[in-house]
Amino acid sequence: MSLDPKIARVAATPRLLVALDFDGTLAPLVDEPMSARMTPEARAAVAALQAAPETTVAFVSGRSVADLRVISEFDPAAGIRLAGSHGAEFYPAESDTDAPDPDADADAPDADETDAAERLTALAAAAREAIAGREGVWLETKPYGFAVHTRLAAPADAEHAHAAVARLVAERAPGWRSRRGHDLTEYSARAAGKDDAVAHLRAVTGATAVVFAGDDVTDEDALRSLGHGDLGIRVGAGETAAAMRVDDIQELASVLMALAHERATGRE
Ligand SMILES: [Mg+2]
Repeated sequence: MSLDPKIARVAATPRLLVALDFDGTLAPLVDEPMSARMTPEARAAVAALQAAPETTVAFVSGRSVADLRVISEFDPAAGIRLAGSHGAEFYPAESDTDAPDPDADADAPDADETDAAERLTALAAAAREAIAGREGVWLETKPYGFAVHTRLAAPADAEHAHAAVARLVAERAPGWRSRRGHDLTEYSARAAGKDDAVAHLRAVTGATAVVFAGDDVTDEDALRSLGHGDLGIRVGAGETAAAMRVDDIQELASVLMALAHERATGRE
């Protein structure tokens, strides 16, 4: 199979950032979110890219950085970057506006942070009440918001739960951003999107081109933000701004492996 010209072009850039969504892109969607892991092929492709010259891999996810570390079996020595909560937190953290450091000492948080934390706790409790009794529906709290998961719920329960929480948030936190994904809706006090995550990663890595791949609606924020020399890849079906589409995780892994190979061997 000859190399796709789109891959060849992006592989020739001086400094490459490969930013990848995690769930549904590298790891199959699963009923128990914390059991998600990369497929062996995806893992091998990520390792090959990370080993390629002048190439940085980043995982860009709606998950918190803490959860992303677990499911990606993160090894700080590997040099992979993480963007969590759709770009509201990063690892390594780049500034004090990023996610609170879980190892930080007991410095008194400022009043705004305390207010925001109390507001989040109260709203999450109200949301839990709103979905109570709907079998298979559960609430995941996140650093800046929460997600309503309905993968295991009957369609009617899922719709009722999503509608109830949407009403609640519209009433009590109208400024929050909501995002609908595969079997979940997320609500966040932070407006950051994956486009912001990619812009940040592009800047800190000094990338001259970006490859971004994702499978869901929130990935389109990043895909739409890509420039002329970049390459967007959509995994699976759905409307997309990406220039390339692959059927599934398996096919993406082989595209990424071809990119890694070209990067390692094809450049002068
Ligand atoms: Mg995904």
